[in-house]
Amino acid sequence: MTSKHSYDEQNIFARILRGEIPNDTVTETAHSLAFKDIQPQAPVHVLVIPKGNYVDFEHFAAEASDEEIVDFVRTAGRISAESGVSRGGDGQGFRVIANTGAHGGQEVDHFHLHIIGGCALGRMLPGDKG
Ligand code: 5GP
Repeated sequence: MTSKHSYDEQNIFARILRGEIPNDTVTETAHSLAFKDIQPQAPVHVLVIPKGNYVDFEHFAAEASDEEIVDFVRTAGRISAESGVSRGGDGQGFRVIANTGAHGGQEVDHFHLHIIGGCALGRMLPGDKG
């Protein structure tokens, strides 16, 4: 099957996966890698990426195998728990973000989740009066 998603092998997370750039690894599994964001926006700020070449959330959702998806979601869930931010654990909750494309503010074109917590994060979007 041809893909409409074009993946740039030189993106920074591809280079991290190839070991060309160091990272502060939190967890590694068969299909996923989690590491600390280099510019944390809160006390806990971990990025979770699949090892496969997926550009963004849509690409991953459409074309990743069930095994990759299960591995990725379970890894992300484990990280929030182990980072101490779980609601009902010692923490008080967190936010999961998957920026996608230009309007989503995605800077690195390798699919990633941000897991952010450790302090009150405020409303979801600037100007959100909800
Ligand atoms: P995006 O805006 O694409 O959703 O988020 C990209 C994230 O990657 C940003 O939060 C940025 O700080 C992080 N980042 C960019 N380059 C590096 C790097 O070389 N190492 C790490 N650990 N994080 C990076």
